[in-house]
This record gives sequence, C-alpha cells and structure tokens, in this order.
Amino acid sequence: MNRCLQDMAWPQVQEHLADGRNTVVVALGATEQHGPHLPLATDTLLGDELAGRIAERLDALVAPTLSIGCSSHHAAFPGTLSFTTGTFAVVVGEIVDSLVRAGFQRVILLPSHGGNFAPLGDAIGPIRKRTTTARIEALTDLSALLTVPALGEAEFGITLAEGGLHAGEWETSLLLASDPSRVAMARAEAGFVGDLENALGAIFDHGVHAVSSNGVIGDPRRAEADRGERYWQHIVAAVIERLDGDASA
Ligand SMILES: [Zn+2]
Repeated sequence: MNRCLQDMAWPQVQEHLADGRNTVVVALGATEQHGPHLPLATDTLLGDELAGRIAERLDALVAPTLSIGCSSHHAAFPGTLSFTTGTFAVVVGEIVDSLVRAGFQRVILLPSHGGNFAPLGDAIGPIRKRTTTARIEALTDLSALLTVPALGEAEFGITLAEGGLHAGEWETSLLLASDPSRVAMARAEAGFVGDLENALGAIFDHGVHAVSSNGVIGDPRRAEADRGERYWQHIVAAVIERLDGDASA
C-alpha cells in the first residue's frame, strides 16, 4: 500500500481519514553535503525510508519529508541549503497546522538529520500549545539513533571512528540498504577518524570543514547494504519503543 500523501488525490486522503487512518508521519531531512560519495539529499532520502517504515508499523500515512533543515555547520561545502532555527520552527509549525486542519489526529515528527533535533526540541512546545485537536509527537533527542554505532561495533566490528558522525560507515550502509543507486562507493574515502569528543567542539564552533576537508566524519569504505538493513531494523524498533514510551507517559 502506498502511504505517501503526495502520491494521492485528495479524495483518497479523505477516504483514509474516514477509515480511521488518522496518524501521519513527517520526517525532517536536509539538503546538505555528505562527502564525495553520497548525495546532498542523503538525510531526506533516509527520512523517506524512516517515515515509510514507521508508518507501516503504525498503519499511518506519510507526509513529504522536509528537504531543508538546519545545516549551518556544513555551509562551507557548496550545495548545502540551510534554514535558521526560527525559519525551521515556522515551517515545521505550518506543516503540522496543515495536517491537523486536514483532520489528522496524531502527527509524528521524526528528524533524519542530526542538526534538526535541537531546533525541533525548541519549536515543539509552541506548536503543541496551539494544537488542541491532535496529539503531536516528536523525537527531539538523538539517543535512539546514537545506539547504531555501538551496534555496528558490537555485532560487526566496525569501530566507532569508522561509523563516525556524518557520511561514515553506518549512514552509508543505511542508504545502501534503502536506495543503493544513490551511493557512489567508488568515491568513498575516509574523513576525520580521530577522537570524536574533541572534534565536536571544533565542529560546533567552526563547522565540519574545520576537522574534515572532504566533509566525512568517519570512514564509509566498509559500508554494505546487509548491515544497513540490520541498522534500519534496529532504528525502527528504537523509534517505535520511544513513541510507545511517550504514549504511556
Ligand atoms: Zn546525514
């Protein structure tokens, strides 16, 4: 079943709502450099996949992934587009308003780009406050996703430095599993593989280019689709568990 709003005509959306299918999942992606081997759309493509898998589990519909997010720390690399956090809050709020106006009663916001978590955390309070007819759920911290590098190390011997933070082994494996035609493994090369804790300060203060000239934090060369599928299953389980936890809180 195709669950994507943008592929439906409006009467089909109305029918789903009338059938009680009134949950919608929205991924929040980016157009942002991902090294020499992945497209700028990487976080948006991963958002499409994440939203689709979560919607399947919840029998929900899927709204278009937001394809621009907060990416100022990648601005030194050409092609990266970025909203300021204020713009991001307005855009996300108006997407939610539109969905609620249409009759959706549960809206689930899932960042698929690390830089969107904190801005979403700041934006969500006012959005919830003005929304009285729907439940708005949002993943506002990275902890569910940050278990992936540890899984890669424990199950596959991928070091944390290889997994990295950006365009490294795990992110590349995820895209190989969901959309291999978008990955140019022949161009994959190692980026920053030093101490991540030390690098984080420089990245936040000066941008990714301060620690990595090719834009990669990690080493994608051992990435593969089968491992990416394992990571996807892990992420989906972690997100569903988080949503269930929020529902019972
Ligand atoms: Zn990414």
